[in-house]
Amino acid sequence: MIENKAPGKDISDEDLASKFPLAARRGDEPRRQFEIAGVPFGGDLIPVMAGPNTVENREMILRTAEAVKKAGGHFLRGGAFKPLSFPYRSDKYFELREEGLRYLQDARDATGLPIITEVMDQNYVGAVAEVADILQIGTRNMQNYALLIDCARSGKPCMLKRHYGASLRDWLGAAEYMLLEGCTKLILCERGMAVPHTHRASSRFLLDLQVVPAAQEFCSYPVGTDPSHATFWAPWVKPMTLASIGAGADFIMLEVHPDPRNAAVDPLQPISFDAYDQLMLSMEAVASAVGRTVGRSL
Ligand code: PEP
Ligand code: MN
Repeated sequence: MIENKAPGKDISDEDLASKFPLAARRGDEPRRQFEIAGVPFGGDLIPVMAGPNTVENREMILRTAEAVKKAGGHFLRGGAFKPLSFPYRSDKYFELREEGLRYLQDARDATGLPIITEVMDQNYVGAVAEVADILQIGTRNMQNYALLIDCARSGKPCMLKRHYGASLRDWLGAAEYMLLEGCTKLILCERGMAVPHTHRASSRFLLDLQVVPAAQEFCSYPVGTDPSHATFWAPWVKPMTLASIGAGADFIMLEVHPDPRNAAVDPLQPISFDAYDQLMLSMEAVASAVGRTVGRSL
């Protein structure tokens, strides 16, 4: 008889000891705290990263950066290189690639906001790292280990999104690849799971709020959420953002767009500048109820 030694899908003590010892949090070991571009992570502050899905043109990313900053956001997000689901490009469905990186740089120069943007390809780690303060690894690349290793070796802070089908165990396994290669400033982002029911035909994912305290129990690196990608539906972004803060999220990523309905990619999920400004106030109220802050005065 063959002994069943198949590993479980969830985390065992042996995993913590030998599969991902660098990512593992031991007992009551304090959670990790560090600064990225002068913004503290892992403490009382809940940094907010906001911006469009895609850098569509120079003017819109500059306008968005101003709005993000004015409302008290800490990082500008925006994709120059995009993992678009379909290969055909049009004037409504595109990525600006290197041109987009230049506009992100312009937005930083104009506002001082640090930048988080996605890197999808090992060949572009250097180019993205020149502009980004945080390299974003998207859900589809969570287990692209060669990419993870190159991002870690770049020496840049990195955000590792959870794959939409991955267990926490596999997510922490991917994090371990990066920690082993010397990434010291790693943050983990839950962005929604593919599940049987999402409650709307157009919503592809479900935010796994439970993974926030779970990841924090097993791992000492900051854990945040992206309610925009998780809900795929702007009216649900506010409640899921506030719930994320209640659940202990260490940072929040949000899609904000000057003209949400006409966003080039995923127009159902971004919120307007006004909605974002109001949301920052609600976030501050919930954060203060759980002993934290988003840095926005009420
Ligand atoms: C994004 O943040 O723009 C993005 C593509 O996210 P995800 O990898 O979670 O789909
Ligand atoms: Mn997106």
